Amino acid sequence: MRNGENKEAGRKEIAILGSTGSIGTQTLEVVRNHPELRVTALAAGSNVERLEAQIREFKPCAACMWSESAAADLRTRVSDLDVKILSGMDGLMEIASMPRYRILVTAIVGMIGIRPTIAAIEAGKDIALANKETLVTAGHIIMPLARKRGVSILPVDSEHSAIFQSLNGEPADRIEKILLTASGGPFRGKTKEQLAAVKVEDALMHPNWSMGRKITVDSATMVNKGLEVMEAKWLFGVDLDRIQVVVHPQSIVHSAVQFVDGAIIAQLGMPDMKLPIQYALFYPDRKPMAGKRADLFELGQLTFERPDPDTFQGLKLAYRAAAEGGSMPTVFNAANEKAVALFLDRKIGYLQIPELIEKAMDRHKVIADPAVEQILEAERQTHEYISELV
Ligand code: NDP
Ligand code: MG
Repeated sequence: MRNGENKEAGRKEIAILGSTGSIGTQTLEVVRNHPELRVTALAAGSNVERLEAQIREFKPCAACMWSESAAADLRTRVSDLDVKILSGMDGLMEIASMPRYRILVTAIVGMIGIRPTIAAIEAGKDIALANKETLVTAGHIIMPLARKRGVSILPVDSEHSAIFQSLNGEPADRIEKILLTASGGPFRGKTKEQLAAVKVEDALMHPNWSMGRKITVDSATMVNKGLEVMEAKWLFGVDLDRIQVVVHPQSIVHSAVQFVDGAIIAQLGMPDMKLPIQYALFYPDRKPMAGKRADLFELGQLTFERPDPDTFQGLKLAYRAAAEGGSMPTVFNAANEKAVALFLDRKIGYLQIPELIEKAMDRHKVIADPAVEQILEAERQTHEYISELV
């Protein structure tokens, strides 16, 4: 019997980091629809009310809030229940290493996920990975470690789930090309000049997906697609020149693999994150899921375009960061994180996001094969540099 599989109950136990966010709440919706899943532990940043409601509904044995004061508040609120309330990085690490559960859903945002993800792999857990920043910055540590421990990294990101489903176990040497689709976001077809006056509200209007604020801005700049190129490189072991971004405004083809014999296999469906979440949680099974089906007659046509490298500088910079490798993807990611936060706070304009990323990258001296401490130090320095600049 595997770790976390409780025979009597026959339920698969999962833990979720970032349970109060967009991916976290949709993961809990999947759990609600599948009594064979059980939640062992939950973690969130600061949303005490929502985490309390989740604890009452899903009865985990442990939960974690980032700050100790929020944890203390939560402890009082749920004192009638048998649940251990933890806090901070120690709490995340304790949850990641809990013996009971089997799959860790990393639905936290940012590089804060690196250490708990590594701890979970060390403890032999499979990872349902949404937190792409961990792979972008520490893929060179996470992927070999997962292989060594014999655990699976199951993609939750919709494009990577589509690639994973299209591959269906075929080895990497049969891949000729990965076709990574992108909706193009709210600014597809615009010129750089037209984007000078973009406001926060404009950038938060994604045409097809409803997501957290940071990733929604990343979709508008196409930095998200750049992060996904790096994520695909690590997940599927494919060189950068064999990962092609294809703008597909309808978001029905979630990505595809072109094999060495020219066959292209894709996964299509309505844009709904519950499908990739559910696929990761039950892999290699495929379970029923209710919801609207993609009706090809209703859709009529699916279209494809090349991304515009002038309007979407962020995508170009991502390829550069990936090619330079080592600590450069960390600098790309950290500079973007900080710039997006400043943009959301209305401290900088939209076009300054790629400008700041480029400046941070230009001054950085690449560390090849950085250790976790060096990655986190590069993140800290980049955040500091951007704060000084602005
Ligand atoms: P959200 O901002 O909606 O949610 C983030 C979650 O992380 C919240 O639960 C938040 O808690 C929690 N969190 C933040 N900081 C901490 C911390 N220090 N300690 C513990 N928990 C913390 O983000 P998304 O769900 O949109 O994205 C999550 C990840 O998934 C990102 O890496 C994103 O790139 C990726 N992803 C998201 C997709 C989507 O559709 N949303 C699609 C593909 C990938 P709190 O609410 O309490 O602050
Ligand atoms: Mg995606």
